[in-house]
Amino acid sequence: MTRLIFLGPPGAGKGTQAKVLSKNCKVPHISTGDILRTAVKAKTELGQKAEGYMSAGELVPDDLVLDLIRERLGQEDAVNGWLLDGFPRNVEQAEFLNKLLDEIKQTCDFVINLEVPDNELVSRMLARGRADDKEDVIKNRLDVYREETEPLIAFYRGQERLRSVDGSRAMAEVTSELQQIVANNNNEA
Ligand code: ADP
Repeated sequence: MTRLIFLGPPGAGKGTQAKVLSKNCKVPHISTGDILRTAVKAKTELGQKAEGYMSAGELVPDDLVLDLIRERLGQEDAVNGWLLDGFPRNVEQAEFLNKLLDEIKQTCDFVINLEVPDNELVSRMLARGRADDKEDVIKNRLDVYREETEPLIAFYRGQERLRSVDGSRAMAEVTSELQQIVANNNNEA
């Protein structure tokens, strides 16, 4: 049973690491960014509403994201664990998640803060080349991160579940540190 929240700026490698751990730990990788991009591609109502915000590097409004998370965590495969990537992204979302987890009688084990310096983030995103990985949009996503998401580090530090991990190292090194964190937790349980 593993329940982790991945925090960290865009380009820090949250998605990459979450995918690997998801396989190892046999729990679903839940990425709000992936869910939203799938909705945009499929031109669903959610996708049509979200598209403009995403291409500008803004956060999609909470009312679109909160229902989606409630529904996703309620699915069968999420009963025994999950890795959340890209959610929560602001204090309102974090408070919503706390309440939701209370309601469904779950607790998150750790909040992983993946730390990577800004210059490295920008070059990683430019190399990745996703639709929203253009220089001006990247700059806005980093600004939005500082303003909206970074305060969550203090929010979760208060709850003593925060683990900071140096995400600027090689991918495999980061993975092995994350695996250790999970393994130690499971030994204690
Ligand atoms: P990255 O972390 O590299 O920016 P994501 O795939 O996590 O990439 O997010 C891409 C975009 O999807 C964000 O810029 C935002 O517009 C939208 N998004 C994803 N998750 C959320 C969320 N929890 N709340 C609001 N918007 C979100």
